[in-house]
Amino acid sequence: MKTIEVKTGKPYNIYIERGIISQTGKYVRNITGAIRAVIVSDSNVAPIYAERVENSLKENGFETSLFVFEAGEERKRLSTIEQMYMHFYEHNVTRTDIVVALGGGVTGDMAGFAAASYLRGIEFVQIPTSLLSQVDSSVGGKTGVDLPSGKNLVGAFWQPSVVLIDPDTLDTLPKKFFSDGMGEVIKYGCIRSSELFKRLETENAADIIEDIIYECVSIKRDVVEQDERDTGERAILNFGHTFGHAIEKLGGYNSITHGEAVGIGALMLTRITEEKGITTNNTAQRIYRLLDKYGMALSTDFSLKEIVKATRGDKKSSGKHINFIFLKEIGKCFIQKINIEEMPEFFGV
Ligand code: MG
Repeated sequence: MKTIEVKTGKPYNIYIERGIISQTGKYVRNITGAIRAVIVSDSNVAPIYAERVENSLKENGFETSLFVFEAGEERKRLSTIEQMYMHFYEHNVTRTDIVVALGGGVTGDMAGFAAASYLRGIEFVQIPTSLLSQVDSSVGGKTGVDLPSGKNLVGAFWQPSVVLIDPDTLDTLPKKFFSDGMGEVIKYGCIRSSELFKRLETENAADIIEDIIYECVSIKRDVVEQDERDTGERAILNFGHTFGHAIEKLGGYNSITHGEAVGIGALMLTRITEEKGITTNNTAQRIYRLLDKYGMALSTDFSLKEIVKATRGDKKSSGKHINFIFLKEIGKCFIQKINIEEMPEFFGV
């Protein structure tokens, strides 16, 4: 088993082990004296894993209940959160009870937000079951929902009490979810670890998935510990995301996965910075080859001009600027503020 300690305002541990899902109750019991545990899951994940989690919680003395919502990003709304609150209320959840988020990014973000706000905050546990949530969204304490106007516009920083990562759950995922997660994995290599990037080039990610999860989560932990509230350094996790979000937005969120959009965003941006002499030669080509190797989208129908225009509404903009993350080379990046007015000129569109 691999363990990662996170020293945020509220410290917690992340455990990575095959089969750990069946031991949920033991790990949750270690961190809480709660009577009740509410499992929150979606209609794809609950039929496969909820029973295992529930049994393990019961064996460790918890009274359990299960809240299941229909799978899909369209459900990541306040209306689903209200249903969750009602479920908590009907099952007598108190301030000392605990929420168990079982599923991918949407489940973790929503269960976390419900936990952050119900009775002004109760504890929660993350059991991420997709590659994207295992390497990225389950760590760092960002929770929230979408509004019709944009993704993740409402939310809270709320750290989990423990994160249980079971790589076995990846075996049951459709292939599209693997490439979704790989977008973030490649991002971690680009911003902080040329060794990780090289391993992705020379080995097969699926064969070394536990090492990959460990590496990505360690990088995220380091960044989040430095900047829990996302006011500085944490922005580097956004590499590829400014263009990526624009591509998702232009496509109406259904045509491409988040990870694939991030991959294309990283590629497009790095081609430009390389041309400008900011990034070492051949970097964009290496990113391209890696995206190709893992069967990810390599281009978008939207023009750079359309993408640049769509980035103006990006949540990560601070006033007149947008923070872009540029690579110096694979494994090294920096934050570059670009004035919104000057963006068309900078990108030559
Ligand atoms: Mg992301």
